[in-house]
Amino acid sequence: DTDRLLTASRRADDVDAALRPKSLDDFVGQQAARENLRVFIQAAKARGDALDHVLFFGPPGLGKTTLAQIVAREMGVGFRATSGPVIAKSGDLAALLTNLEDGDVLFVDEIHRLQPAVEEVLYPAMEDRALDLMIGEGPSARSVRIDLPRFTLVGATTRQGLLTTPLRDRFGIPVRLQFYTVEELERVVTRAAGLLDLHVAPDGAREIARRSRGTPRIAGRLLRRVRDFANVAGVLEVDATAADRALNRLEVDALGLDAMDRRYLTMIADIYRGGPVGVETLAAGLSEPRDTIEEVIEPFLIQLGLVARTARGRVLNAGGWKHLGLNPPAGSQD
Ligand code: ADP
Repeated sequence: DTDRLLTASRRADDVDAALRPKSLDDFVGQQAARENLRVFIQAAKARGDALDHVLFFGPPGLGKTTLAQIVAREMGVGFRATSGPVIAKSGDLAALLTNLEDGDVLFVDEIHRLQPAVEEVLYPAMEDRALDLMIGEGPSARSVRIDLPRFTLVGATTRQGLLTTPLRDRFGIPVRLQFYTVEELERVVTRAAGLLDLHVAPDGAREIARRSRGTPRIAGRLLRRVRDFANVAGVLEVDATAADRALNRLEVDALGLDAMDRRYLTMIADIYRGGPVGVETLAAGLSEPRDTIEEVIEPFLIQLGLVARTARGRVLNAGGWKHLGLNPPAGSQD
């Protein structure tokens, strides 16, 4: 997955930090989420309180980390970041929590991947701002309660349903992030081009936006690759033609799908005659973890209407056949 240009997951060569908007006003798109956050932040500040715990959920690269940082900045508090898989023991989380300053935002990426024992520590921390520590072992063991500073937990996950119910219920502010429209991504590209000192014509920005899989992280990444091609070719301003040429070289097709997306679609078409086929079967056939298929590859293909998730498995829709330039087999249900 790490070699995949279009993977929305973070890669080592991403310079996410440089392109991150710093305020709610700078943040493009996600209007409903932004307006709600603005109200909750204002209200918490007026009360002199910490913001209620926030859960951001949605596919990778849509701005969850960015929004978490913006929340801290707009609240005027400190920002600490960690991730679910990194916290190995409940003691690690206890150390993090006891080191927070009053009002801090603690950002936990991939929060659905917390160990159950670690998650248990979070419940009283989120609810009562307290830590229940066990001291000693065996019959003499006893539990001691420690008060924590006020803090806001900001969790990020790809799907809300991946969280256990007790954890999900402790977030007062659940926020779903959506794929971006082409117009919104155009603004993301134009803004990023400005920061990168690259001249991109409006039709060039639009072409990159159209092929970014609805995802700002991918827009930023494609923009940087397009810049490489433009630099080498001596192109001073990236227009639609220059963008198209570069994106074709990168094997990003007209809908923004990459080789992995096409392998996925082709497998359903060729081997399973359009489906239904189970996700486990596809995962095995593509040698990709089931999570990657469900959380990274499928959401955008479903959003485009190329495939559907049904009770019996994945089914290629008419649009999917058309995109592959194939006809559905005679007698298929679609
Ligand atoms: P996530 O945490 O959801 O995986 P990030 O917050 O790390 O996503 O965002 C990935 C990249 O996309 C960052 O470089 C960020 O600057 C950029 N980005 C995300 N959302 C926006 C936005 N609304 N406007 C501009 N850039 C954005």
